[in-house]
Amino acid sequence: MLNTLKNRYEQGYRTCGYPKEKPAVFPRYRGRPVIQTGASPEIITSCADACPQDAILVADKKIDMGRCIFCGTCERISKGEFVKFTGDFEISTAQKADLITDGDLPALAEHSKQHFKKLFGRSLQLRQVSAAGCNACEADLNVLATPFFDLARFGINFVASPRHSDGIVVTGPVSRNMKTALLQTYEAVPNPKVVIAVGSCTITGGPFLGSPEITEGLDTILPVDLFIPGCPPHPLTNLHALLAFFK
Ligand code: SF4
Ligand code: SF4
Repeated sequence: MLNTLKNRYEQGYRTCGYPKEKPAVFPRYRGRPVIQTGASPEIITSCADACPQDAILVADKKIDMGRCIFCGTCERISKGEFVKFTGDFEISTAQKADLITDGDLPALAEHSKQHFKKLFGRSLQLRQVSAAGCNACEADLNVLATPFFDLARFGINFVASPRHSDGIVVTGPVSRNMKTALLQTYEAVPNPKVVIAVGSCTITGGPFLGSPEITEGLDTILPVDLFIPGCPPHPLTNLHALLAFFK
């Protein structure tokens, strides 16, 4: 017991200061992509051809972050002349169309629904549904409960039963096998409720795009309120999305 208290004392206060202070991310972290509009058509085309996700819109000179898995191939091929990834992790949107970007994103806080802020601003209970995810999106949601992120200090918790929750957080490409369970979970959440799509799998199908076994976009079967892109999204991306949208 004394050792536990001693350890606790020695470790000190470990919770990050976000949102007041932005913690530094790993230097190789790929966040919001920024398009260099002066890139030659040849470079843009070679990036688009190499993109495993068909996420580059050549004519519009934009990237679809809902499809992108942030592999960095386009930045590497263009040597940063077409795409540069920044360390900005605040990349979630309230509209799926806004994920198609040249680097500019609308402020999430301004696009959140005011009645959600009123209803859930002080207390938000969420049920997580892994609809055939690879477990990376799920793991980066789980760490929000650790002392470093300490999601509960904002009144946000993950709960076991959909009947005790205010909404669902969905990860994975929604396989045929998981579709019924997901829809039943959604039905079990009392109204009014929110739906949050986490990860490129859930938003567009991600690396499983084109497979007949998945649903290409959660928004094709449920009304999605919040889109959190990434493969997987950084825990700070998830935290920013929840705070900006509901607080
Ligand atoms: S980082 Fe995204 S847009 Fe670039 S090649 Fe990879 S998947 Fe495609
Ligand atoms: S988006 Fe990427 S990390 Fe998340 S479940 Fe799909 S493959 Fe895994």
